[in-house]
Amino acid sequence: MRLYSLEIKNFKSFCPEGIKLDFRPGMTMIGGPNGSGKSNIGDSLLFVLGTRSSKTVRADKMDDLIHIPKEGQRRKNEAYVTAVFVNETDSENFEKLEISRVIEDINGEIRSTYYLNGKKARHTDIDKVMEDMGLQLDSYSFVLQGDINDFIKRTGTERRKLLETIAGIESYNMKIDAAKEQINEIEKNVAASETLQAEI
Ligand code: ATP
Ligand code: MG
Repeated sequence: MRLYSLEIKNFKSFCPEGIKLDFRPGMTMIGGPNGSGKSNIGDSLLFVLGTRSSKTVRADKMDDLIHIPKEGQRRKNEAYVTAVFVNETDSENFEKLEISRVIEDINGEIRSTYYLNGKKARHTDIDKVMEDMGLQLDSYSFVLQGDINDFIKRTGTERRKLLETIAGIESYNMKIDAAKEQINEIEKNVAASETLQAEI
């Protein structure tokens, strides 16, 4: 699946009218002067895909993500992002997936709501979709500003771990660890059973 469009309303530097970006196949570049909102576009994507931490999207608190208007304008109490992904490999089975996230500030309390193809969804549903697409928020599916510098500065072991994550090996390592734990558990049970058998 590829990213097809991104709609951003009242999120960070984007005003209530918002913007809609259409991405064509291939590579898309977004240019602009410092502070013009380029990284905010990346943040909006991490946001809609379910980031739980405001730090990931460069904000102290989740409510900082809601657009702060220029003087004299009233601040709205919600921010909205929709991402559309498509699978165009087969023109007969054109697959479309629309994910939306809205955060509302309700008297200082932040409520986050997700929608999958227009229907209300849970955070875990978004996690599932991400897993199916092979995307991971906390890995290198997203290379953010400064990440390349960070990569160059890493030690060999750290770099290897990162490459394993990119290659998708990490999830297998996790499965191996889980299986080893199960084996340990079973071996304990077998030992206990053998003791019992010997007693009998
Ligand atoms: P650079 O080239 O320096 O990396 P950039 O184009 O990536 O810049 P961003 O970091 O995306 O810029 O945007 C920063 C701007 O977003 C700042 O001007 C900041 O004031 C604005 N901004 C962030 N949060 C909000 C908000 N809640 N309301 C209004 N503006 C916001
Ligand atoms: Mg930037």
